[in-house]
Amino acid sequence: MTINRVGVVGAGQMGNGIAHVFALSGFDVLVTDTNPEALDACPVVVGRNLDRQVARGTIPAEAREAALSRIRTTPDLADLGGLDLVIEAATERESVKSAIFEALVPHCAAETILATNTSSISITRLASRTDRPDRFMGIHFMNPVPVMQLVELIRGIATSQETYAAVLSVVERLGKTAATAEDFPAFIVNRILIPMINEAVYTLHEGVGTVASIDTSLKLGANHPMGPLELADFIGLDTCLAIMTVLHDGLADTKYRPCPLLVKYVEAGWLGRKTGRGFYDYRGDGPPVPTR
Ligand code: NAD
Repeated sequence: MTINRVGVVGAGQMGNGIAHVFALSGFDVLVTDTNPEALDACPVVVGRNLDRQVARGTIPAEAREAALSRIRTTPDLADLGGLDLVIEAATERESVKSAIFEALVPHCAAETILATNTSSISITRLASRTDRPDRFMGIHFMNPVPVMQLVELIRGIATSQETYAAVLSVVERLGKTAATAEDFPAFIVNRILIPMINEAVYTLHEGVGTVASIDTSLKLGANHPMGPLELADFIGLDTCLAIMTVLHDGLADTKYRPCPLLVKYVEAGWLGRKTGRGFYDYRGDGPPVPTR
């Protein structure tokens, strides 16, 4: 089972990062998104991120051109059907993801492996919406994809050993390290990370600390490279809330209840860096300004 042609559904921060690392490792990549602006921006965003790697000396300038030449975009999801592997990286909402797989499956070749980059949703349940639960699994990249070494691999109950082995060899070709997680809500990284972020938002909500004091505390007191609220803005507050909700619903334990302040930020459309404002305001020219 050789994988050379990869499709990516969703040209958001994760989809662009996934396209970037695959193209840089020699795979042909076809990206789709329902938002034409996001799709048009894909090569521009990837190009800018590749520029950064060239400037840092992580990759040679020729690699940038070669990678960009391997990325194509299409508004038509059906065009991804004939590829070897399709990774869905659309919005973290089960109805969105299910609809994508249901629309894609009729166009898929028999051998196509389907994968999702979901941070938290059941792989087994998403797989059941397709005609190939044995050729379906979770490939969970971390943000930013070109920088982060880990890829979590999650098998659904029906995922075959061949599918797992093929995907594992792809991760190795990308030069990344795989960790295997069982198919439980939010898997490993987010089962631990997102409740910590949610607790940081409670700490803010209850007035125990300010945005600045909470982030400083975890950076200098626990040696975290980013504070939890800064990290939440980086991930996207809608994604953080979606993952907390999956944990709360899936594990039925009140310790996972999403903080009402996190809900309020999402209701306001203050989703973090991607919308210019979250726990920090990024819209000025200077350093980000705490919003509380
Ligand atoms: P994002 O909001 O930046 O991008 C989502 C993209 O999906 C948007 O461009 C949107 O237009 C597109 N989209 C929505 N519906 C679509 C459809 N039906 N067909 C095609 N495209 C569609 O979100 P993101 O941060 O890139 O997250 C994407 C996925 O990756 C989510 O499942 C998320 O949980 C997961 N993830 C996110 C992070 C993170 O730190 N942000 C980390 C790991 C995994």
